[in-house]
Amino acid sequence: MTSTFFQICSLFYVVMLTLQYYSRKRINNIENKIYSCLIINVLVELILDILSIITIRNADKIPFLNQFVAKAYLASLISWLSFFTLYILTISIKHSKKDIDDNILREKARLYAGVLGLIYAFYIVLLSILELQFVSNQNGIYSCGPAAEFSYAVAGLLILISVVNVLRRIKTIPRKKTIPVFIFVFVGLIAITIQMSNPNILLISAVDAFITFLMYFTIENPDVKMIEALNLAKDQAEKANRAKTDFLSSMSHEIRTPLNAIVGFSQGLLEEDLPADTKEEVKDIIDASDSLLQIVNGILDISKIEANKLEIVNTEYNFEKIFKELVALSKGRIGDKPLEFRYSCDKTIPPVLYGDYVRIKQIVLNLLTNAIKYTKQGYVDFTVNSVCKDDVCRLIISVTDTGIGIKEENIDKLFNKFERLDLEKNITIEGTGLGLAITKKLIDFMHGNIVVQSKYGEGSKFTVALDQRIIPKELDELNIPAIEDDNKPFVSNGGKILVVDDNKINLKVAARLLRAYNVDVTLVTSGQECIDEILDGHKYDLILLDDMMPKMTGVETLLNLKKIIGFNTPTVALTANAISGMKEKYLENGFDGYLSKPIDKVELENILRKYLTDMDTKTEVPPKEDKLEDISYLKDNGIDVDASIELLGDKQTFLSTLNDFLEETSERLPKMEQYRKDNDMANYAILVHAMKSDAKYLGLTKLAELSYNHEMASKKNDKDYVDEHYSQLIDELNHMIAIIKKYLGKE
Ligand code: ADP
Repeated sequence: MTSTFFQICSLFYVVMLTLQYYSRKRINNIENKIYSCLIINVLVELILDILSIITIRNADKIPFLNQFVAKAYLASLISWLSFFTLYILTISIKHSKKDIDDNILREKARLYAGVLGLIYAFYIVLLSILELQFVSNQNGIYSCGPAAEFSYAVAGLLILISVVNVLRRIKTIPRKKTIPVFIFVFVGLIAITIQMSNPNILLISAVDAFITFLMYFTIENPDVKMIEALNLAKDQAEKANRAKTDFLSSMSHEIRTPLNAIVGFSQGLLEEDLPADTKEEVKDIIDASDSLLQIVNGILDISKIEANKLEIVNTEYNFEKIFKELVALSKGRIGDKPLEFRYSCDKTIPPVLYGDYVRIKQIVLNLLTNAIKYTKQGYVDFTVNSVCKDDVCRLIISVTDTGIGIKEENIDKLFNKFERLDLEKNITIEGTGLGLAITKKLIDFMHGNIVVQSKYGEGSKFTVALDQRIIPKELDELNIPAIEDDNKPFVSNGGKILVVDDNKINLKVAARLLRAYNVDVTLVTSGQECIDEILDGHKYDLILLDDMMPKMTGVETLLNLKKIIGFNTPTVALTANAISGMKEKYLENGFDGYLSKPIDKVELENILRKYLTDMDTKTEVPPKEDKLEDISYLKDNGIDVDASIELLGDKQTFLSTLNDFLEETSERLPKMEQYRKDNDMANYAILVHAMKSDAKYLGLTKLAELSYNHEMASKKNDKDYVDEHYSQLIDELNHMIAIIKKYLGKE
């Protein structure tokens, strides 16, 4: 008797498989679509197989139904094989080339499905025509005849197509996807052999079910719900991380402001006549604040790095100056430890290099500070070597100490953030475990390398290799002040400084610090007040301008100041935003310098030295009083004096601005002509733009309008317009110059 044992067992696990498969949301890819057809197909196939066994047993009672069910079963066998072939064709295309576009894959799969569908339709037509016979023997009845044989032939063809395709792409299709095919061929051959020797044992649908089951583990079948949950968790974690970063940087910023007050006032106190022990205490306050500042800076840096906001800012720098500064700073940190500091530097290193010297300083200072911190006695050796090739100089910087050393098993942990090693020994040494984490990240950012060698109890050696570009310049071509050797404190002869900060305490600190330099300090609390000061005609030798101010930031204030003609007061940014790279940003924004808060005395002094030393050279043309009276001459010649005075604040400023205008124009005019001749419309646009705003400020309405037209045209690279209207612009300019000169008595 034909048994339904295999079919019922298969049906059981295929039902389980179906439930498992559909219980999850799947990714909507072509593989999954074909696979779901295979599962449904095998379910139907197994049911039809069981039904056909039942109807065959009763063939004489229900001959038509028996024919129908048996043929339907055969049809389901072939359709399963068609889906299987489609699956094989699709994956062999998918893995034929790398990263095949999903849409192309879908299109190809659709094409294959169409061809296979046609073959299948043809098969169904023939199957319905051909006769299916039933043979009975002592074990039961089974089907045979043309319909069955034709079905086996189609099945053989489909299996052949699948196997050939897999063999053709055997190298590119992932191994696990080819396994079901080979197992199918192998198990299928065994099943056919068994079935041929005993036709009553029906195994084909059980084999299909088994292969479908196997395929479940090979298709790309991720659980979409789980992926969605993971993505959500990842998003939330990223958000939390961002919030942490924002919190840390705003906290650090908030901490810097009161710290500024502590350091500033303490430094001020040091200049007072205090008892020796009080002075010592004040120094301790400064040291403690300095440590706190290092921590805040470290947190700011690491949060920047983690938020991927760290920027490497490359500039030209004087190698010797930077490294000498490092030596001086490190020596200062040795204090009264019995430590020898050795420094040797390769004399062939080119004087001017191009790279991020702020970061290089940070890296080397971290290593030197650690070497000093973790060494009780002996020496710290700082050696700089180089290997130069073409325009690249590889700096090989090594810091060796005779300190506590690092255990071998700890070397890998050195660069983890917040990781402090050997705590039992280091418990008294201050640190956050951030220094080397930042150092490593910075070196990675600069495509450099760091190597650590250490013997526990004997000492450590940190070696860093960094490539820097060589700038073939001499030092004096570089706009870097020479290394200051004189240690005389700087005292100005009454320089005027305007300090702008919305925070009153910061203003007091600045005033306190500046007291030592014999300067005349004016304090204002907003960008607008600063602009008003300048518009009111007050002259300063230096402006210290805070950036983070409500309403108008320092950068915006400076932009507005620059619009005032004749404004050329050096302006230094003053900010608690002490992230490295800021200095270059402020310089790019037009500032002449940068001071981070808490204000470092040495840096402040450098700035004062730079801008207050030769202030006498600035000349101002005192307007002649009588000129103020016959201003109607200008009005009669079309100059909108009233509007200008309103913009500039007063007549005095108006007159001195007229002077500035003449000077600026005499420089501007030949350049304009040159740019026009060279077809350099970009630079031409910059000059006419400047002329437009000057003209506007001075009430030279027509000139402003013509300059504006030229600015627009040159921005659009419309050289024809510029050439055609150039003489008109120059005529108007010369006309105005003549009037102003006549008026100022400068003819
Ligand atoms: P911190 O010094 O603030 O603790 P670092 O990240 O700079 O953090 O260093 C991490 C750890 O590596 C230190 O806590 C210390 O245990 C070890 N370490 C760093 N430099 C040296 C050194 N030169 N000698 C011995 N141990 C060191």
